[in-house]
Amino acid sequence: MSNSKTTIDSRIKRIIISEQEIASGISKAAQWINDNYKNKDLVMVSILKGSVPFVGQLMTQVTVDYQVDFLSVSSFKGGIKAATNPEILSKINADITGKDVLIVEDIVDSGKTISHVIELFKQSNPKSIKLLTLLDKPEGREVELKADYACFTIPLLFIVGYGLDYGEYLRNLPYIAELKEEVYLKESEDK
Ligand code: 5GP
Ligand code: MG
Repeated sequence: MSNSKTTIDSRIKRIIISEQEIASGISKAAQWINDNYKNKDLVMVSILKGSVPFVGQLMTQVTVDYQVDFLSVSSFKGGIKAATNPEILSKINADITGKDVLIVEDIVDSGKTISHVIELFKQSNPKSIKLLTLLDKPEGREVELKADYACFTIPLLFIVGYGLDYGEYLRNLPYIAELKEEVYLKESEDK
């Protein structure tokens, strides 16, 4: 579908990354996995719920053998600001001891969520732990954390779409976009 035909949701200010750009960014990430995980024991761990469309696309394009698992972590309590302490809501089933773990995340902002996840995984003694993220907001970093691969680096904006939510909605947008200020300002006035 061409970009000009994309219908823009009325809550959206502007598209930051189009459907086509997302698709090509993900193909490159899949290639990076295929190049780096030959003859490894790869376990991709997708962080719920935002990374589901991302990992779904990767799953069909990664050609090296892998297992996939899901970890549920909450950082946001509704609005647009992350809560300070990430909470593990459900654990993975895979045994990652001695395995090459690749964390698949939607977006890294302060870095607190993934730092917490890495500390948790280290307790199981995996062979390696790497981080692949669809989006990186390096200016938001509050702890030292570098993604091993980021499809897109973006400025400090609150964005939605392609798995990323606002109050659990708008994950279904096929593009990544900036929300209109009036949408979240109205919400905070209502509280
Ligand atoms: P952290 O600040 O711990 O790096 O990021 C925590 C989580 O906040 C991310 O995994 C993601 O789910 C969410 N997050 C961070 N920035 C944004 C954003 O711009 N939009 C949305 N929808 N979620 C975000
Ligand atoms: Mg997340």
